[in-house]
Amino acid sequence: MISEKEGRALIDRLAQTRTLTRSEWTQLIENRTPALADYLFRRAREIRIRYYGKEIYIRGLIEFTNYCRNDCYYCGIRKSNRSAVRYRLTKKQILSCCETGYRLGFRTFVLQGGEDAWFTDERMLGIISEIRRRWPDCAVTLSIGELSYESYRKFFEAGADRYLLRHETYDASHYARLHPESLSARHRRKCLLDLKEIGYQTGTGFMVGSPYQTAENLADDMLFIKKLNPQMVGIGPFIPHHDTPFADQPAGTLELTLFMLGLIRLLLPKVLLPATTALGTIAEDGREKGILAGANVVMPNLSPEQVRKNYMLYDNKLCTGDEAAESLKKLDARFRHIGYHIAVSRGDSLNT
Ligand code: SAH
Repeated sequence: MISEKEGRALIDRLAQTRTLTRSEWTQLIENRTPALADYLFRRAREIRIRYYGKEIYIRGLIEFTNYCRNDCYYCGIRKSNRSAVRYRLTKKQILSCCETGYRLGFRTFVLQGGEDAWFTDERMLGIISEIRRRWPDCAVTLSIGELSYESYRKFFEAGADRYLLRHETYDASHYARLHPESLSARHRRKCLLDLKEIGYQTGTGFMVGSPYQTAENLADDMLFIKKLNPQMVGIGPFIPHHDTPFADQPAGTLELTLFMLGLIRLLLPKVLLPATTALGTIAEDGREKGILAGANVVMPNLSPEQVRKNYMLYDNKLCTGDEAAESLKKLDARFRHIGYHIAVSRGDSLNT
């Protein structure tokens, strides 16, 4: 046990030195209180405002396929979910999402999907280079899972600038409880190192409150993130999906997710830190609270309306309303209400 005063001292030291030991991380996470969280968020906001002002960067999320060869136990679009209604967008549809997005003010497009073999390197290269050609002032981000060094390199050369690949959890045995045997923590991390080496602005992250997760697991995640030093860290609460092996597992909490956001802001002051869709799903004002805990990015949905309900990673995932890209004005109004506003720019990371 540590006292409130000791907790504050750890937060102060984290803010000063950008690091803690494994047991300090664990203590801080286990002994958090609402008062300590308020203190953390105040410090996190200070730092966030120092580097990014009160701007919130937006990324247009295009969920272009929900076919997936993998079978992650938590994920609603896992291969074994026979009830998932599968779709893939055509190149033309993807480009039309970008066009809509550009008009709305997006300067980053995130192509996210399951690991879908239909999108061969050749097809992906065609899509990436066409986006690059038509919108040269935009950043192209990929989030399509674990691929070979060669594929990552080719996509980078074709014009992809950024890649999002959450490490999900650092600890190998925890990783093995969330994934089938064919997937490993080690390989996931190898991919992240490849992406960094090639030159991508790289994003990693994890689910908060995933089944069997301990405070030590989260401590390891923090140590790993420190070492990787990514440009972005995406975290959100685990939310069960009714057609997965984790259907009956409890969801991660808003409270712990916000606390982890605050800690990450102190750990990597200049990192891009999204207030994720999952955060907005577990609480109506989840994303505003995320911003007030130190987040500085949101990723509204640019996918065609008719497919959104099929990219269901977890139950009740937000797919209509203010998180949809068309409602950018409403989203901006929500943020202005708490003193922040949406910026129209590529929003590159200052964490280089
Ligand atoms: N297939 C790609 C990207 C798609 S999923 C990949 O593997 O990287 C994007 C993220 O959604 C995952 O990294 C995971 O952390 C998150 N996710 C999946 N299922 C979830 C669930 N049930 N609750 C919360 N987040 C989930």
